[in-house]
Amino acid sequence: MESALTARDRVGVQDFVLLENYTSEAAFIENLRKRFKENLIYTYIGSVLVSVNPYKELEIYSKQHMERYRGVSFYEVSPHIYAIADNSYRSLRTERKDQCILISGESGSGKTEASKKILQYYAVTCPASDQVETVKDRLLQSNPVLEAFGNAKTLRNDNSSRFGKYMDVQFDYKGAPVGGHILNYLLEKSRVVHQNHGERNFHIFYQLLEGGEEDLLRRLGLDKNAQNYQYLVKGQCARVSSINDKNDWKIVRRALSIINFNEDDVEELLSVVASVLHLGNVQFASDDHGHAQVTTENQIKYLARLLAVDAAALRESLIHKKIIAKGEELNSPLNLEQAAYARDALAKAIYGRTFSWLVSKINKSLAYKGSDVLSIGNASVIGLLDIYGFEVFQHNSFEQFCINYCNEKLQQLFIELTLKSEQEEYESEGIAWESVQYFNNKIICDLVEEKFKGIISILDEECLRPGEATDMTFLEKLEDTVKNHPHFVTHKLGDQKLRKSLGRDEFRLLHYAGEVNYSVVGFLDKNNDLLFRNLKEVMCDSGNPIAHQCFDRAELTDKKRPETVATQFKNSLSKLMEILMSKEPSYVRCIKPNDAKQAARFDEVLIRHQVKYLGLIENVRVRRAGFAYRRKYEIFLQRYKSLCPETWPNWDGRAQDGVAVLVKSLGYKPEEYKMGRTKIFIRFPKTLFATEDALEE
Ligand code: ATP
Ligand code: MG
Repeated sequence: MESALTARDRVGVQDFVLLENYTSEAAFIENLRKRFKENLIYTYIGSVLVSVNPYKELEIYSKQHMERYRGVSFYEVSPHIYAIADNSYRSLRTERKDQCILISGESGSGKTEASKKILQYYAVTCPASDQVETVKDRLLQSNPVLEAFGNAKTLRNDNSSRFGKYMDVQFDYKGAPVGGHILNYLLEKSRVVHQNHGERNFHIFYQLLEGGEEDLLRRLGLDKNAQNYQYLVKGQCARVSSINDKNDWKIVRRALSIINFNEDDVEELLSVVASVLHLGNVQFASDDHGHAQVTTENQIKYLARLLAVDAAALRESLIHKKIIAKGEELNSPLNLEQAAYARDALAKAIYGRTFSWLVSKINKSLAYKGSDVLSIGNASVIGLLDIYGFEVFQHNSFEQFCINYCNEKLQQLFIELTLKSEQEEYESEGIAWESVQYFNNKIICDLVEEKFKGIISILDEECLRPGEATDMTFLEKLEDTVKNHPHFVTHKLGDQKLRKSLGRDEFRLLHYAGEVNYSVVGFLDKNNDLLFRNLKEVMCDSGNPIAHQCFDRAELTDKKRPETVATQFKNSLSKLMEILMSKEPSYVRCIKPNDAKQAARFDEVLIRHQVKYLGLIENVRVRRAGFAYRRKYEIFLQRYKSLCPETWPNWDGRAQDGVAVLVKSLGYKPEEYKMGRTKIFIRFPKTLFATEDALEE
């Protein structure tokens, strides 16, 4: 008895639902702390995996470890990301139902690492053949490429994903991975032209400069020194000790060839990357009339060559804006500020579109070429979602608004699906459902996305009034339309105390995860994401095949207004929700232990905050509302049969009857447990612990 207690005291419980005081945040954190100290970074809440970033390499990801989790029942081995991966795979195989694994958590909590570990698990443990090996390789190698173009060093994470990613892995009837497909969400394009102090631009720029062969750099007109590029100096930290750009360059080059890029593709892609750097170095001076003139002819020359566009046309389009008035085209000159704006808009457009092009090119190389996937119907996919977690900064803008809205949607899905699956299990086991009180965040999702009245609708409306609308008129319209909403306040709508904590240009949303103040400055501009027409025209004529594919002529003739950024995002999220709803979900909730990126540091304040906004206590509460513990009769009997003379050494009869005899002999009281169709349900952890302890004796 003593030894069992001390073990539990030392390493905590491996499932939070087994905490005696399951509604207590303190008990939750304490359990997390004990386990973290013992390098036990994984803990369950039922079937949800909670993971704390160890910030050090642990010896738990070897091939032997993978083997240990293969085909083993979820709860019989200690919690692990491989158990989640294996469990999804097994459900896919046996229940023939599509799966998805949703990974969430704040920046630096380990989402991307988790998703890579899952992918590695499948690559190692799933059946193989020559063709499958190629696919496995491509699935794995798509990562370094996407990370090079979509990740960057931020203050929070040296390898921060600046885009959302959903990846389908497709399996054939033998259970071998045979293809994949990636959906990307909202790349943080603003980083191309500006980085905060201590942050970098996307990795690829530095990799190219550090690792690129002399010949290549000469062809691209680049030199090795990052300091010479305006788009790379804003954050003042081109070098990062944890990053080896030269080495990463080699990895990326190799990965590109594995995912089917030939030499020409690579040259064209890098030409586009280089053109962004040259664009950043384009400078202007004001003439006597206050009109911008290009002063860096050399850059224009390189740009014209790399993008295969007409130099004069490019130069003119950078300093003019084409207006169509009364059926006539007018070229109106730009001032210095407008020209710099046009230049940066072009750089962002080129990079952003090239990133999407890259994803579609990768998808082509991952596409399954046989017919087996179709022949086994729809039960062939495991989706992995690695998407930005809830974000609160000192200063929050349009980007945080989109990201946090995305998290509201995912939380809603989580609540719906967790409750739904609980309810379904009770039903299928023939046990009466006991309803659970919980906070439904639909009200916040509606506030953001509702037609006409939602924040996005109002923003779009203001974007339709160029010249008249401003960020502040947007805020005023918001105040008029959504006043009296329990989750929305502004300076004007708040009381005196609130006014002190809220700027005049801010609105506050009370998210499920906590309050966030958003400054409206830049909302209209970022939502419009405008690129002047004449710049588009130049790009459409580009002789660089990638640039050419990224800028479609149809865009110029299309009379319909292009969708705004927020609306595009809203629509892509709604599609994502549909995809996820059609699958059986598993969850990985990642936690970042400290802001210093250090091992063995458990910052309680920081962790408590994350536990709160990941809704973990609520999650335990839902899982515990009925029964803390449930197991298949066979497994339960196998484990505890030695405790009763009638079931030991073997019970010959139905497992369910054996369990009935067993629990009676253990003295379980009727209110402590229920017998379902295939499982025993135990209400309180103490009942189970007593049984466990008896086993120890
Ligand atoms: P972001 O939202 O910024 O993309 P993220 O949640 O994807 O963040 P990761 O990039 O996965 O975070 O992790 C950040 C860093 O933490 C990694 O580069 C790695 O150094 C470390 N790390 C994360 N998970 C693990 C792990 N399981 N073992 C060892 N180190 C880890
Ligand atoms: Mg990431």
